[in-house]
Amino acid sequence: MTKIIDFKEGITEEINNAGKALKEGKLVIFPTETVYGIGANALDSKACENIFVAKGRASDNPLIVHISNINQIDSLVTNINPVEQRLIDTFMPGPFTLILKKKDVIPSIVSANLDTVGIRMPDNKIAHDLIEAAGVPIAAPSANLSGKPSGTRIEDIKKEFEGKVEYIIDGGESKVGLESTVVKVIDNIPTILRPGKITPEDIINAVGVCKIDDNIFRKATGVVESPGMKYKHYAPVNECLLIYFDDINKLAEEVNKNIKDKTVVIGYNELEDKINCYKYLKHGSINNYEEISHNIFKLLREVDKYNPDLIIIMGVKKVGLGIAIMNRLIRSASYNYIGE
Ligand code: AMP
Ligand code: MG
Repeated sequence: MTKIIDFKEGITEEINNAGKALKEGKLVIFPTETVYGIGANALDSKACENIFVAKGRASDNPLIVHISNINQIDSLVTNINPVEQRLIDTFMPGPFTLILKKKDVIPSIVSANLDTVGIRMPDNKIAHDLIEAAGVPIAAPSANLSGKPSGTRIEDIKKEFEGKVEYIIDGGESKVGLESTVVKVIDNIPTILRPGKITPEDIINAVGVCKIDDNIFRKATGVVESPGMKYKHYAPVNECLLIYFDDINKLAEEVNKNIKDKTVVIGYNELEDKINCYKYLKHGSINNYEEISHNIFKLLREVDKYNPDLIIIMGVKKVGLGIAIMNRLIRSASYNYIGE
């Protein structure tokens, strides 16, 4: 039986119990500032194997290891160079994952047999207290069945994981709503393998240089830096089309042109009156990319209940946080994209 912990109640005791369960090899779903994670003791291969089973995750897709204190890093990884150190100092805690050379304590199931591991320190009090209570690093991918949009609120998570995990800790809706920025330093250059709230500009400000992996907006095949790039991701059940043009009138026109009988449009608050469709779901204001990133996974789940013949999503400009939003939306739409 899964125990649900409501964060609004006095939680210290409950968090301690959930931490203990983690240490003993059980699975616990917990909030972070990005999305919810499904966690296990990162030093216990059997416990980590259960994450792959619960999610239906491919075994070559590695898990990110979560810590509560910067001092834990040295016990998990080795050979940190000055660029990596600067990134750690600047972005941890925060929505940021750094890929580093792993030590042998990290089981190969966690790193999917790579010699590296992703390290992240969430900026969320419940996550912090839970990892502290566990007393071990916590391996945690996003709390969703593989291929589905990442879990950002408790109703969606309960549907997929109740009965499969020991605890689900309700921390309210995830603040950021998109997963962490994943960075690997290659030849001294920070390279973004998965964009997120920490943008290329943020990284340039910290270390003067940043590259974005070529596969951010296209379908990756063969050998890739980040195995997660290869997989179907964030997808609603029904067919999906992503449309974006800088010119708002052109965007509305293209959306209207592609609407079928029972089409649900996920789009800007301001364009609702310009679109003629079966159901219109608002993802946020034009230019408010924080609002859109917060809402997008929730809406990609909600849309399934209308059983639409087509889902049309309005995209955003690929700048700043917009890079991360478009990276997720292009995958949600299985690369079915009209626009610039
Ligand atoms: P999720 O756990 O669902 O947030 O996804 C984790 C992402 O981080 C996936 O896209 C992985 O491919 C990527 N990742 C995790 N560990 C590594 C690693 N050691 N090297 C490269 N990418 C990684
Ligand atoms: Mg995920």
